[in-house]
Amino acid sequence: MIERRSAGEIEAITAAGRLLSGAMDMARGMLAPGVTTGEIDAAVEEFLKEEGATPLFKGYRGFPASTCISVNEEVVHGIPGDRALVSGDIVSIDIGVGYGGWCADAARTFPVGDVADERLALIEVARGALAAGVESLYPEMRLVELSRAIQGFVEARGFSVVRQYVGHGIGRKMHEEPQVPNFVDGSVRQATMVLPEGCVLAIEPMVNAGGYEVTTLENGWTVVTKDSLPSAHWEDTVVITESGGVVITG
Ligand code: MG
Repeated sequence: MIERRSAGEIEAITAAGRLLSGAMDMARGMLAPGVTTGEIDAAVEEFLKEEGATPLFKGYRGFPASTCISVNEEVVHGIPGDRALVSGDIVSIDIGVGYGGWCADAARTFPVGDVADERLALIEVARGALAAGVESLYPEMRLVELSRAIQGFVEARGFSVVRQYVGHGIGRKMHEEPQVPNFVDGSVRQATMVLPEGCVLAIEPMVNAGGYEVTTLENGWTVVTKDSLPSAHWEDTVVITESGGVVITG
């Protein structure tokens, strides 16, 4: 069942989104060669706690940190730690925020120092894929139209979209109905599911420079590309309104 949120509820989710946006800006400002992913994670956690917000990932199914930070060939769910960033890295930062009983979720991939053109292109395609998804939104549309908009944008540019991880509804909980694939999966569910006005989605294309296949490292969390080529991840929490998609974490 897909929830339709009232104006008041959307305002409350937007308050969580605004805090997330502030945390993301702060994290972006820290990015430099020599900074560790653990330092960024600690700063985000402190920022959120000072605002009275909760980092939703901490303890989620046992996840040990407040953010997911995934570098280069890491796709999602990277565990922050003592890894120091170097010039040429691309870094995906994923943050979930709980505030006033509501949730918001967003991710960005940023370059560190002097980054190769093809990696910058990958980041732009992931960002553009999210934008294409948001632009496709209108009330009572079918889920498959959103998935097709994202996949089409990515594949037209010669990159691939991860299939194993998908976006999701969000609201009282971080993960709600429906699952939001970034590709057309051929299912009846996807072809027939209607997205109502007032529904809130975390749309999150994960885009690979090479093939779409991924695998999980022995730590049980970090997802990497099978071909070890880089990956980028952009995510926003978005409301479907009468006039289209409105990003509340941008
Ligand atoms: Mg998410």
